[in-house]
Amino acid sequence: MAIELALNKLVLATGNQGKVKELSSMLADLGMDVLAQSEFNVSEVAETGSTFVENAIIKARHAAKITGLPAIADDSGLAVNALGGAPGVYSARYSYDPTTDKEVTDQSNIVKLLTEMADVPAGKRQARFLCVLVFMRHSDDPTPIICQGEWAGEITTVQHGENGFGYDPVFWVAEKNCSSAQLTKEQKNALSHRGQALQQLVVQLKNLLG
Ligand code: IMP
Repeated sequence: MAIELALNKLVLATGNQGKVKELSSMLADLGMDVLAQSEFNVSEVAETGSTFVENAIIKARHAAKITGLPAIADDSGLAVNALGGAPGVYSARYSYDPTTDKEVTDQSNIVKLLTEMADVPAGKRQARFLCVLVFMRHSDDPTPIICQGEWAGEITTVQHGENGFGYDPVFWVAEKNCSSAQLTKEQKNALSHRGQALQQLVVQLKNLLG
């Protein structure tokens, strides 16, 4: 049964305009307006969870509370088998060193990853990108919609390609015989953890709206 829900506007808990555009176009045929949380001056919230799900819920709840609108948030990262699932929820700040407090960049994270994996042989370099997307009808929603996408690959020993962001230059996509930084945006969206989670969320929202 479809739930009665006044849902023509929602806030996306991100400052990333690229993510807002991507989601807006996928939700356009549902007649939903996707607004960035920056339009409401939503402050950053500390991602204190130890799982992607917890962090996505923290961000969605915070955005819903401040805006009074339904909210979507995502949390994503890289999990490497040989490193026991690291960098995981710490993917964005993997190379942070409190003793120097130097700026963390995609390059510093990649350098740390390749250094940590220097002794890991071919065949044992499997990894997954993970993306959790959460939809909360309001800040106290006890039943958020939770979607998770996964993308399996291998960590290379050197960097390949210039597209994308984060760990893309060292994430090898066997079926395309290239790194994810060598895929076009469209190719990456069709395969990626984020693309898969988004597709699931669109289906669930369509069901919700009847
Ligand atoms: P966030 O969820 O957008 O904050 O992403 C967390 C971190 O995970 C990013 O800063 C990247 O380091 C990494 N990450 C997440 N998704 C991707 C991807 O599609 N390609 C490369 N790195 C990613």
